[in-house]
Amino acid sequence: MTDTRALAARVSELSKQLERASFEYYVLDRPTLTDAEYDRLFRELQDIERAHPSLRAPDSPTLRIGAPPQSSLPRHTHAFPMLSLGNAFTDEELREWEARLVRIAGDDVRTAGYCAELKIDGAAVSLIYEGGILVAGATRGNGVVGEDVTPNIRTVRDVPLRLTGSSLPARVEIRGEIYYPFDLFERMNEELVKQGERVFANPRNAASGSLRLLDSSITRQRPLRFFGYSIVAANDVDLALARQSDVLDRLEAWGVPVAPHRRRCRSLDEAIAWAHALELQVRGTLNFAIDGGVLKVDSLALQEELGVVGGREPRWAIARKFAPDIAETTLLDIRVNVGRTGALNPYAVLDPVEIGGTTVTYATLHNEDLILRKDLRIGDLVQVKRAGEVIPQVIGPIPDRRTGMERRWTMPRKCPVCGTPVVRDEDTVAAFCPNVSCPGRQLEGLVHFASRGAMDIRGLSYARIEQLVTAGLIHDVADLYALREDQLKHLERFAEKSAQALVDAIAASKVQPLSRLLFGLGIRHVGATAAEVLAREFGSMRALMEASTESIGAVRGIGDIIAHSVAAYFGEPSARELIRRLHDAGVTMTEPEPVKSDGALKGKTVVITGTLPTLSRPEAAELVERNGGRVTDSVSRKTSFVLAGDAAGSKLEKARQLGIEVIDEAELYRRIGREA
Ligand SMILES: [Zn+2]
Repeated sequence: MTDTRALAARVSELSKQLERASFEYYVLDRPTLTDAEYDRLFRELQDIERAHPSLRAPDSPTLRIGAPPQSSLPRHTHAFPMLSLGNAFTDEELREWEARLVRIAGDDVRTAGYCAELKIDGAAVSLIYEGGILVAGATRGNGVVGEDVTPNIRTVRDVPLRLTGSSLPARVEIRGEIYYPFDLFERMNEELVKQGERVFANPRNAASGSLRLLDSSITRQRPLRFFGYSIVAANDVDLALARQSDVLDRLEAWGVPVAPHRRRCRSLDEAIAWAHALELQVRGTLNFAIDGGVLKVDSLALQEELGVVGGREPRWAIARKFAPDIAETTLLDIRVNVGRTGALNPYAVLDPVEIGGTTVTYATLHNEDLILRKDLRIGDLVQVKRAGEVIPQVIGPIPDRRTGMERRWTMPRKCPVCGTPVVRDEDTVAAFCPNVSCPGRQLEGLVHFASRGAMDIRGLSYARIEQLVTAGLIHDVADLYALREDQLKHLERFAEKSAQALVDAIAASKVQPLSRLLFGLGIRHVGATAAEVLAREFGSMRALMEASTESIGAVRGIGDIIAHSVAAYFGEPSARELIRRLHDAGVTMTEPEPVKSDGALKGKTVVITGTLPTLSRPEAAELVERNGGRVTDSVSRKTSFVLAGDAAGSKLEKARQLGIEVIDEAELYRRIGREA
């Protein structure tokens, strides 16, 4: 009897832990348990309940799919419940799964094949289309009731507002996953820190959190993306689909993005091999998070026959989960690195730990503010995450495991490289070294210059640059173009061939357009986008260098902060000298004109007014310009047409008075020959 009592206590403990974790995960978007821990506890509870059905409470977490919606967003009741997936952590569990299916539906299961898809680690959503038009979008919520996030869904760029193709059903539901691309995730977190906001723990929480914002204009600024994976329709709707693979094909035909690397596998062995390749080869190359692969019985007829288990999980699908990408280790020290703009970036030195097949020793800590916010102390046991190509990150400390020996950390008062007193930037929370010739800045500056988004110099890795700097061969970016093969081949780890290859790669970068060069120079506040806007607007380095702060600030998309920074940079004699040397070395100083003269809107003068359904004003203007049109501010007889959205005011009135054509966003898309 004591045994049962102990089990009952364990069930209650597990339920409480899981409920709390669900709340933190789904409602607060602030997970405290790792996915692997959550799965482990969930399984333990499931196992106990299976063996002792009397211990299962009517409100057991195993009967639920997520937490109920608790925000002030309107509720959306799903026409068909949104189920979750059972998990397999080993190949053996996949074989047991197939054996169970065979017991229910016979040997047909083995021959029907499996549809294998990526398991996107994002936020599941349901999209409703009527007559091919997106009319509603909702989160999963608890699977039965979710939140209506239609205005936010409409801002997701690759969610089609209108399905393409003919013979679209009167009403259909498309399910899929909203996700946050890795590269942009890092950038957003840095932005949030600057604004003093709480950062997101991972891209999945960023996707879910951005999707559930009450203000869709903020969601619009978040680069959310979407992959569809299923079509749900009422029984009387015949879509002529026989297999899950057909479903994915149909989604693509309708213009819905489908995740890459999907595969129709003839047997479970083939599916297992696919999952292994996914984990070992594909995972690290993706710009979005996946936490495994999904196998679905391909035949829809068989899926129907296999049905749903426990009202919660479809029998015919299973997630093959990856080894966790989070580990615990000790934070040995916090050190500071000097960035290319002089920013002091603290990073974590860890007790080396194996995560997903790689040993991790260092992790980013972003900035001082984040360390204080997370209350990280040297000596803490911390959780470290490594996903894809993202730099390993410290998620946070495990305060329960503190011994009292941990030490708090503060930002050094002097630059750790050159000793110059540290300055605080007013615009951001960052501390930085103001010394422009700080050797720390130069190393990072060179690394940035050679990076993929900048001059893209193949083979010029961090280690190589460090080696060249140490050898005294380069001090700044212009020195790169003077490097000769015979200087390199005496260096350690340089074969004659690699020396020549590097010199060639550096020479090849001379043709990069002005936008890449501007970005590569590492001017404070000038990111890739600003560099592109400036290069397009001014066309040449000379024009930009001669421009006044006011004329730079007047460019759309460039604010005062960037304008001042650019003007200050070119005001420095050392910067002008650097540009001169780059020019003399033959580096391109101009931006090619974008091809737009034969666009669909050639010769049209367009006025934009009101709030458009999906495009922001600058985005709409860019679209018009890319297609050869010109955007002006006020309506006159010369205006070709007015693009109007909601709450358009006097401009719309004026257009009507003058008899000028007024169109909506959908019509704009039609005119430029593109689906919304
Ligand atoms: Zn310094």
